[in-house]
Amino acid sequence: MPGISRRHFLSLGLGCGGLLLGACKDTPGKASDLSKARVIVAGGGFAGMNAARALKRISPELQVTLIERDPIYMCCPGSNRVIAGMASIDSLAHDIGTGPEKMGIQVMIGTITGINGDRKHITLADGSSLPFDRLIMAPGMDLRWDAIEGYDEAASTLIPHAWKAGEQTLLLRRQIRSLRRGGTVVITVPDNPYRCPPGPYERASLMAHYLKTHNPRAKILILDAKTRFSKQRAFSHAWKTLYPGMVEWVSSEHEGQIDHIDTRHRVVNTEFNKHPADVLNVIPPQRAGKLVTLADLQDETGWCPVDPLSFESTKIPGIHIIGDACIATPMPKSAFSAQSQARACASAVVELLSGEVPTPPRLINHCFSFVDAERAISVTGVYGYQPSTRALEMLSSGETAPDDDWAQEGIYATDGYELMIQETFGQESSSHIGPGAKEKTRQRFAGPSRESYLHPAKAWSSNSWTG
Ligand SMILES: Cc1cc2nc3c(=O)[nH]c(=O)nc-3n(C[C@H](O)[C@H](O)[C@H](O)COP(=O)(O)OP(=O)(O)OC[C@H]3O[C@@H](n4cnc5c(N)ncnc54)[C@H](O)[C@@H]3O)c2cc1C
Repeated sequence: MPGISRRHFLSLGLGCGGLLLGACKDTPGKASDLSKARVIVAGGGFAGMNAARALKRISPELQVTLIERDPIYMCCPGSNRVIAGMASIDSLAHDIGTGPEKMGIQVMIGTITGINGDRKHITLADGSSLPFDRLIMAPGMDLRWDAIEGYDEAASTLIPHAWKAGEQTLLLRRQIRSLRRGGTVVITVPDNPYRCPPGPYERASLMAHYLKTHNPRAKILILDAKTRFSKQRAFSHAWKTLYPGMVEWVSSEHEGQIDHIDTRHRVVNTEFNKHPADVLNVIPPQRAGKLVTLADLQDETGWCPVDPLSFESTKIPGIHIIGDACIATPMPKSAFSAQSQARACASAVVELLSGEVPTPPRLINHCFSFVDAERAISVTGVYGYQPSTRALEMLSSGETAPDDDWAQEGIYATDGYELMIQETFGQESSSHIGPGAKEKTRQRFAGPSRESYLHPAKAWSSNSWTG
């Protein structure tokens, strides 16, 4: 039986992802070699989970171990809808174990505490050690707590970043709900690169959607460390037409750059001005997840340089880095990019283990943002590998225009999200965790305000609750 080619796998992955499992079952004729090969995937988010699955689809005989520190993954896509009261927190929760185990992936819940790139093994917090032939690292990002004067991890318990989903998402949601009449929400946005470039502007749009009904004189001020932003034309049009006078964006050229934050009084200080906030959402600068520092895989930017031919580290051979943690410019750091990189990396790893040279990848990012409960806008980019520079280049791109059908885009956004969740976690997004895990998630985020969270207060429209 001839093996499915990597190029064919990638084209299937991009064109009909849901059919991949069936299409790749009768894959390669390399069982004798590959059955001895051990691949460890570190991190079970969008990048890691998709890499582990793709490895098994391309080469079912491969020994694949996925290591993730948390048994329930909290998903950032969709979290802005939770903040705006359109979805429940447990809609973001996904079981790590069940889906991949069915495919023969060994799943271990544990924290990686050591990586030895020369001797090719990793160490877990319980002291155990696991050998690998290839290691795929997908630890996501961490926040740089030293980047903004006055704002650190302790401050984030009162002034949320909500850039990792979970408790922080609920904190911001509660604060928006109890914003004083006519109050001001200030969102600070870092310079590129950071996780989900359009995320802050989707957040402002969905907050505005909520406030328009519940607190119509409220204002949202976005202080940006950039001069331009993702989907700017469409977002600006949305703010002007859907929320006139409510959302103001200030670029770094006009005082958007933060000097320091007075967390005690909730004031953002720029070079010449003070911006007092009733609700302050600080999105700090970021870097690759701390895990990469165990093997010093990052460069001076804090992110990990890779050769995008295979996503192998340019610093340590045999270790690959995908998702938010790697430098894959000009791809944005998104779940969709992470999924596309995961598939390309998995194919390259199988080729390398088989003694072949990886086939240059084609990658894609397709990223939706909601501007209200039903309407969405999107941006798409297709990327190719340029052998002469050993870098990715943008081959084509496009984004939603103001006169496109945004309600139709909203339908695509919902369907696209469902598909991404199914392909990543093997579950539907609305019923993606079993009753046990669902209850566990509720309990975990319950706390003293659970009643108000499950039974929204007056200011919180009950029909906006879809969880
Ligand atoms: C508000 C918001 C909205 C977003 N919306 C979208 C969207 O609509 N579409 C989109 O495409 N993207 C969106 N994103 C971006 C998306 O969430 C990220 O790009 C994506 O999660 C990156 O995937 P990843 O696997 O690289 O990292 P992660 O998803 O963060 O996964 C990393 C995993 O590694 C694990 N890990 C870390 N360290 C260790 C260790 N030492 N041991 C074991 N495990 C470890 C972590 O527990 C985690 O599960 C959004 C992001 C935000 C913040």
